[in-house]
Amino acid sequence: MSYVDEALERVKAKNASEPEFLQAAEEVLDSLRPIVDANEETYRRQALLERITEPDRQFKFRVPWVDDSGQVQVNTGYRIQFNNAIGPYKGGLRLHPSVNTGVIKFLGFEQIFKNALTGLPIGGGKGGSDFDPKGKSDREVMAFCQSFMTELCKYIGPDTDVPAGDIGTGAREIGYMFGQYKKIKSAYEGVLTGKGLSYGGSLARTEATGYGLLYITEELVKCHGESMEGKTVVISGAGNVAIYATQKAQQMGAKVVTCSDSTGWIYDPEGIDVALLKDVKEVRRARLTEYAKERKSAEYHEGRGVWSVKCDIALPCATQNELGIEDAKQLVANGCMAVCEGANMPTTIEATKYLQENGVWFIGGKAANAGGVATSALEMSQNSERLSWSFEEVDAKLKQIMVNIYHNIDEAAKRYGAEGNYVMGANIAGFEKVAEAMLAQGVV
Ligand code: NDP
Repeated sequence: MSYVDEALERVKAKNASEPEFLQAAEEVLDSLRPIVDANEETYRRQALLERITEPDRQFKFRVPWVDDSGQVQVNTGYRIQFNNAIGPYKGGLRLHPSVNTGVIKFLGFEQIFKNALTGLPIGGGKGGSDFDPKGKSDREVMAFCQSFMTELCKYIGPDTDVPAGDIGTGAREIGYMFGQYKKIKSAYEGVLTGKGLSYGGSLARTEATGYGLLYITEELVKCHGESMEGKTVVISGAGNVAIYATQKAQQMGAKVVTCSDSTGWIYDPEGIDVALLKDVKEVRRARLTEYAKERKSAEYHEGRGVWSVKCDIALPCATQNELGIEDAKQLVANGCMAVCEGANMPTTIEATKYLQENGVWFIGGKAANAGGVATSALEMSQNSERLSWSFEEVDAKLKQIMVNIYHNIDEAAKRYGAEGNYVMGANIAGFEKVAEAMLAQGVV
């Protein structure tokens, strides 16, 4: 049996109750076959795959807080420090009722390779809680964030582990968490990224994931002789990534005709009105029905349906496993040329294979949404220097990082005889760097 198959069997036996983690591990290890086969003896002897699929450590803790009626509520907090071979652990905090150990573990595992791809010195980690900020008052969100950080602060630090935002954790939550960390530690340090501009945040961090997604998508289509100008784009989600992906796509001359949230989706043939979308989602924190009410050209539909709309380019930007095999078939039938993932693992393995086999250029989230964490690392650099860079400076660095990522994954895929397989290229390029550092650092 090959070393990859052996390692996968072990991962499955040890993590049977964590389907998202198994899905991520299978996807990554499967695509590493060419590089693992070429180095089988060393990697097996060094138990490299066993080590890389086992987190350095994971924390799970109680988060008690008091709601507005005086009732004590209890949530579960998580932080997984997966791998720090190339730098301090880095990865977001997800606040969503669906959060559990398996979800955080899959995200932390993917983060190792994504962070390596940025070319910056950051390791992989992830955290969060099953707390749902939706419908909570500001005071309740603060109470939760303070309690969460009271425990989390024992495990993180600017040179150890630097969390950031993710689903449900925006500027408000990061602010409350930073305040609590500072109070407990009596230290003003860059322990979180995604901070507000007045207290150490980086310009362009808010836009980074969505903008970065479009920079890599633009490079992809350009290298295939196309441009973004005049393309019809469908985007899912209506959160941070989706909003800024929509904005940059439109700046590039494309027309974005959809967005969605967890209850429904919008089809707007005139092109999404980004200012209205931002007002509905960022300011009013309302449902998309509000957008439809105020925009004559928009249709609102309950449930899912974004992938049924005819498009040239599809950008899933909501959540994991939101694009399945039937969606992939519909995209191919409608002539979609490219799918680039803004969210983490939004496309199922089956759907990914179908898209690739049918000639759709597919860039997975590890590469395509790396702009967020890359800019977080730029925020860490600015905090260490105690300086702030201009928007243009950060944005230019982000663009260069995304263009480099495209060429690195393209080149890695070609080197291993899989030209055009950007999923394999991304996994191999990220893994190569981490594996080299792990081997150099001995058995730790
Ligand atoms: P937000 O919380 O800002 O937005 C998430 C969006 O997805 C919302 O519109 C939300 O709708 C929708 N959504 C969430 N869960 C579901 C679900 N189960 N079904 C359907 N829709 C859902 O998160 P972000 O935009 O920050 O993150 C989106 C994705 O991008 C995630 O996978 C995240 O891990 C990934 N990512 C984010 C980065 C960042 O910098 N923000 C960096 C890299 C990756 P509703 O409001 O109704 O819940």
